[in-house]
Formats: sequence, C-alpha cells, structure tokens
Amino acid sequence: MGNKLEKIRELNQHAWNLRKNDRQGALELALQAQNLLSDCPKAQPVDEFDCLKTLTYCFDRLGKSADAIPIGLKANLLAEQIGDNFLISTIQGLLGRIYWHIDDFPTSMDYYLSALKLVQSKKHPELELSLINGLGLVHYGLENYSESLSYFMSCLDNAGDDDSTRADANNNIAYVLHTLGRDQEALEFGMDGLSLHRQLGIVGGIMETLHSLGTIHLTLGNHDQAMAFLQEGIEIARQSNSELLEISYILGISRVLQVNGKLDQAEKELLLALQIGRKINSITNISVIHERLAEIYKEEGNFKLALNHFQAYHDTYKIIFNDKSDQRVKNLQILHQVETSRKQADLYRGLAGTDFLTSLANRRGFLEIMENAFRRVKIDKSQLVILMLDIDHFKNVNDLYGHRAGDDVLSSVAASIKKTLRPGDVAGRYGGEEFIVLMLGISSDQSFHIAERIRQTIAQQVIWIDQALVRVTVSIGLASIEFEQALSLDLFIDRADQALYMAKRQGRNRVVAWKQNE
Ligand code: GH3
Ligand code: MG
Ligand code: MG
Repeated sequence: MGNKLEKIRELNQHAWNLRKNDRQGALELALQAQNLLSDCPKAQPVDEFDCLKTLTYCFDRLGKSADAIPIGLKANLLAEQIGDNFLISTIQGLLGRIYWHIDDFPTSMDYYLSALKLVQSKKHPELELSLINGLGLVHYGLENYSESLSYFMSCLDNAGDDDSTRADANNNIAYVLHTLGRDQEALEFGMDGLSLHRQLGIVGGIMETLHSLGTIHLTLGNHDQAMAFLQEGIEIARQSNSELLEISYILGISRVLQVNGKLDQAEKELLLALQIGRKINSITNISVIHERLAEIYKEEGNFKLALNHFQAYHDTYKIIFNDKSDQRVKNLQILHQVETSRKQADLYRGLAGTDFLTSLANRRGFLEIMENAFRRVKIDKSQLVILMLDIDHFKNVNDLYGHRAGDDVLSSVAASIKKTLRPGDVAGRYGGEEFIVLMLGISSDQSFHIAERIRQTIAQQVIWIDQALVRVTVSIGLASIEFEQALSLDLFIDRADQALYMAKRQGRNRVVAWKQNE
C-alpha cells in the first residue's frame, strides 16, 4: 500500500519536472497518477492537488483550454481547502495563463493579481516572476505595449541566475520591441534568449525564439538570416506537432521567397499553410494566407486566381474584423477598469521593486540592486558607499499636519535626494521615513561631501502643505567598503545603521561616517 503512495508522488514529481519539455509525456504520467489516486486511501489532498496542477498545465499548453479550466478550478478549490498560499498562488498563476490563451484578459489579470498578493516577497522568487511575466502578457494582449515591456524588463532584472526565467524574459522583450518597431534592439534580446534556451534545451522556448528572430530579421531586410532562423524553427515545429507555429513559420519563409522573386516556391508553401490552417480551423491564418496568395497570383499575372483569393480573403476578413473590433472595445473597457483601480497597480508595482509614493526602489528592489553591486565590487575591486537617512522627528510632522501631509513631505524628501545624486547612484525607500543610497566607485571623503550636500538641500527645502510651511531635517549614517574587506552585506548595512544612530545621538541634522569602535 505504501508503495502505491510513493509511486503516485514519484509520478507527480516526474510529470511536473517534464512539463516544459514534453507536454504530452507529462500529461500521460499525471493521468497515471490520477488513476492510482482513485484507489489510494493514504493519499493526501496535496497529492491530488499536485496531479491536478500538472494536468491543468499540460491541457492548457496543448491548446485544450476547455479541459484545463474545470481541472484548474478544482485544484484551486482544493488548494484553498488545504489553506496553503503557495499552492493557491501556483494554481492561480496557471489559471491566469489559461484565460490569457482564450483572450479573456480581465479574468486573467484577476488571477495573476490575486496570486501575487499571496506570494510573500522573495520567498518564492520563481513563482513571483512567473506571475509578473503573466501580467506582462496580459498588457501585451491589451495592446498596452510599454507597460508590457516594463513587466518583462522587471522579470529580466530580477531573474538572477534563474536562466529559464531570463530566457523567457529576453524572448518576450524581443517580441514587444519588435511590435514597437524597435527591431535593432529586439535582435539583441532575441539572441540572448535563444542562446539561453539552447543551453537549457527547452524545445518550446527555442522554437518560439527562432520565430521571433526570423520575423525581426525579415523586418530588417536581412533575408538570409531570416531564412536560416525560420528554417531551423519550422523543422522543430513539425517535429513537435505545433501546427499554429508551423503556419507562422511558413508565412515568414514564403515572404522571403516572394521578395526574392521565387514566386512559385512561395505559392507552394502558402498552399501547404492553407491546408494546415483549414485542418486546425484557424480563421485568422486562413484569411492572411488568402491575402498573400492573391498578392502572388497578381504578381504572376494570374488575375483570375488572384481574384478568387481576394474574394476568399475578404469573406474571412469580415468575420475576423467583427470579432476583432468587438475585442478592441472590450480591451478599452478593461483598460478603463485598470485605470480606475490604481490600487491593484500599486500592488504589483510594489512587488516589481518600486515604491509607489516616492517612485524610488522599495526595500526589496533596493536590496536586489545592492546584492548585485556588492558582488560586482568584489570582482572589480572598486569602492562602495551606502548612506542611511532618517527624517528627524518625523512623528511631529504627522501629528501637526496629518498623515497625508506626512506623505507629501516624504515624496519631497525623496525628490531632493534623487536630485542631489550623481547619475548611476541609486536611492531607495528603506522603510517608513528611512531612505538608503548606494554609490559606486567613490571614496569615503567624496561621498561624505555628497551626503552633506543632501543634508543641506533637505534642510533648506521649504515644503508648502495646505498653506503651512514645513521644514524637515535628516540624519545620515555613512558606511564605505573597499574590496579587500571580507564583510557581509548585512554587516555593511548594519554599519550605516550604527552611524545613523550616532548622528541621532549627537543631535540630529548631521552626517556621521562609521568608524571602528564607536
Ligand atoms: P527620530 O528623529 O528619532 O527619527 O524621530 P522620528 O519621529 O522620526 O522617529 P520615529 O521612528 O519614532 O517615527 C517615525 C514616524 O514615521 C512614525 C510613523 O508614523 C511615520 N511614518 C512611517 N511611515 C510613514 C508613511 O508612509 N507616511 C507617513 N505620513 N508617516 C510615516
Ligand atoms: Mg525611523
Ligand atoms: Mg525619524
């Protein structure tokens, strides 16, 4: 009996690990596990959850949304009964993706946001990033490209050494940049994405990135390169039965043939694509293929066939046009909803590393930047300084003028700090009324001057709030490190904190640099 449970867990584990590379194989393993589960009294709810989770993923990626949705919803219910936020968040992320695939962007966004609320900062970075990636996809679907780009960029910035996330982020960034007409930049991200996907051996990723790169090269007029990527990709698409992608590849390949005057070859390719399009009933593709065939027959002087395909193109386009305009109106509605509920936006902005009130990096975003800088300093053997700032008697501001006024003061102080820094220095909001600044490649003396300048700027600043005139001062602790010191990041920040404490003790409104034995 015990063996059966072990077997189920093994199958679940194996299926989940396999899901990205072999959806069909993973699906079969999960179905085997489900079979065994029906007759295993020792199994826990979480075993059933694990199995349903994989089934949801696989059905979705195999294009079977109708199968994926009920299973996903059941898994979600189960996760809520178990009461584990990580499980709930995982399955909601999958549900977000399913609804994205069927163009139901509001539901998709709801799931992603709800899932994001449940993952605690930094505890499950991989899951969190996949949710932020999901929001990037939603915004892309809503044709909100710059917002979409910032989510994907945030994934890339925060991916660390998670290569799979980096690979996806690079490809997504390449595609958005291509959509924005920034093909030259797109190319660089695409190439990074491709080499990462190749290293990881993720077939789906390689295939998608090859397509992006082919399309980008085609737009840039690099026909030979476009052809090389497209041909490599179409082979993989055929081997893995990805018919939709196969059509996209044929559209690219036939375009290259067409611009190089190889009209009969282009025609042959497009007729093949038409067959596949009809088989999988992809009306958007059928329409585009008719349009392209009409163009080619026209160029060849075969006007009768050209006319037939133009007719077919117009007939199909009418259907799509109605669907699409309907979708556009829906998208506008959603954007309106998003605009009016900025609270949600605050949530994911915060999670993506930025503080909403001050627009500085939040504590989490800052620590991430800091960790990278710390690593670099050890490699480059350069210098690094941090300043820890705390507003003096800030409680009084709140007490005298109210919390809202306090918030205004916080953003003014943040703006002054930013204004006084050199390009490349980074400021963050470390806590309520505490700020932190990171400066690279600077000596302790130079940085003391900058800290002093920040202190003076703030002390001289007058902030008008509801006809009242508010002034505040800050105390600043400074800590610096040179490469040879074997110091941990935590201890380093702690030194700046100790120096800040000294500044407060010595009377506030001053800068104190950390010294040994103080
Ligand atoms: P000190 O000079 O010793 O730093 O005195 P202080 O009053 O600044 O120090 P304390 O840490 O006792 O109080 C900080 C206050 O900052 C308490 C809290 O109400 C306020 N605060 C923290 N975050 C925010 C915020 O986001 N907005 C507003 N308006 N106030 C905040
Ligand atoms: Mg404080
Ligand atoms: Mg304070």
